[in-house]
Amino acid sequence: MRKPKIVVLGAGYGGLMTVTRLQKQLSHDEADIVLINKNDYHYETTWLHEASAGTLHHDKVRYDISDVINRSKVDFVQATVEDIKTEEKKVITSAGEVEFDYLVIALGAVSETFGIQGLHEHAFMIANINSARQIREHIEYQFATYKNEEEKKDERLTIIVGGAGFTGIEFLGELGNRVPELCKEYDVDPKKVRIVCVEAAPMILPGFDPELVKYARAKLEKKGIEFSIGTPLKEAKADSVIISKGEEEVEEIKAGTIVWAAGVRGNPVIEKSGIENMRARVKVEKDLRAPGHDNIFVIGDSSLMINEEINRPYPPTAQIAMQQGEVCAKNIISLLKGNEELATFTPDIKGTVCSLGEDDAIGLVYGKKLMGSKASFMKKVVDNRALHMIGGTSLVFKKGKFKFF
Ligand code: FAD
Ligand code: NAD
Repeated sequence: MRKPKIVVLGAGYGGLMTVTRLQKQLSHDEADIVLINKNDYHYETTWLHEASAGTLHHDKVRYDISDVINRSKVDFVQATVEDIKTEEKKVITSAGEVEFDYLVIALGAVSETFGIQGLHEHAFMIANINSARQIREHIEYQFATYKNEEEKKDERLTIIVGGAGFTGIEFLGELGNRVPELCKEYDVDPKKVRIVCVEAAPMILPGFDPELVKYARAKLEKKGIEFSIGTPLKEAKADSVIISKGEEEVEEIKAGTIVWAAGVRGNPVIEKSGIENMRARVKVEKDLRAPGHDNIFVIGDSSLMINEEINRPYPPTAQIAMQQGEVCAKNIISLLKGNEELATFTPDIKGTVCSLGEDDAIGLVYGKKLMGSKASFMKKVVDNRALHMIGGTSLVFKKGKFKFF
């Protein structure tokens, strides 16, 4: 008898949680499991700000998918997903077509540019290993070029970071540590370097605890980072950005590096697939299925769920993606067993910890405020926990963060 085929798209937090739970709970004869991912490695998206700044080597941020999947139960296909044909129950990939009975879409997110002119052409985005490597290399190149050019262009050493949400702030924290190292390495006077964060909202980390926000801003400013608050970035050019300073007034800031970190939207494959979506994210049912598609689950940043207490979407986080992966696997197993009563998913938000560099952070964990080394310790615990949930103790020993103080 033909076995049902479960196809999981994306080996990020959501996809790998689903696959590792399925492989544990299903025997060989119960289903075929296929995992499709662009690369043969998984990267910790939550550590990409470190690889981008150059404070952590990109190889530390990734691990082989074969380290965490059981190859006798899971067929791994390295390919780029190009389209999903929901009616025909097949996925179109760069390596050919793959049919499915059950599909899990866990393709993550891409940077949101809101149609702002010049961003795609002139700004870097903290998106994956390739872009992180390029940001790190580009910043180093600017330092090296500055030292080697006769007519010095100081603006070469200006780094603009667009967006002071969690990604922007975590990246600034790393830059605050990395830039002094670069100045030493390239014999550059630290006074020549400018790091400017441009934020549209009236505060950094909008909506987060004001006391923690104040602490973060003061610590980053102490590292020499400048904030331009309430000044949306309007345009990026080859060597500058234009920011709005009121109804009429604009300012141009010359810069050698522009990094855009101002939010995300879902994966473009979703828009192409014709599945109902909002900014490429699928507003899923409580059991994580796409509306009108009984055999398609959508999890992680590709999905959208409303927090009914505040009537706003839950922020796309790894924390939620991993929890969804567990429930998604459970629900697929229920369907395989002929049980139509599926579990409903409710995020269990344990807290948020935002790194401010290797040894500093802020956090709100189980309602308790944390700052400094305690918060930084907690951040590493959270990072190691994600490794443990997917790859167990051996993965923690291989890739974990142990420099706690
Ligand atoms: P991802 O983990 O991004 O995985 C998507 C996978 O799909 C990737 O392997 C990718 O290669 C693959 N893929 C994409 N497109 C295709 C395609 N077309 N074909 C084949 N494969 C494809 N959240 C937290 O909870 N805590 C944090 O501390 C935190 N820190 C963050 C720091 C940074 C710098 C960033 C950028 C985000 C952070 N987040 C954090 C958010 C978190 O990383 C995301 O919410 C999480 O990665 C979403 O998981 P996912 O499984 O949906 O997608
Ligand atoms: P975000 O939406 O959280 O923040 C984006 C920021 O960019 C906002 O402050 C917004 O006001 C600003 N912005 C938007 N348009 C702008 C413009 N034109 N000019 C200047 N600023 C502009 O997005 P993010 O920081 O990219 O994070 C994406 C997701 O990942 C979020 O859900 C976040 O919670 C999550 N994340 C979590 C952590 C953590 O828990 N430590 C770290 C990084 C990211």
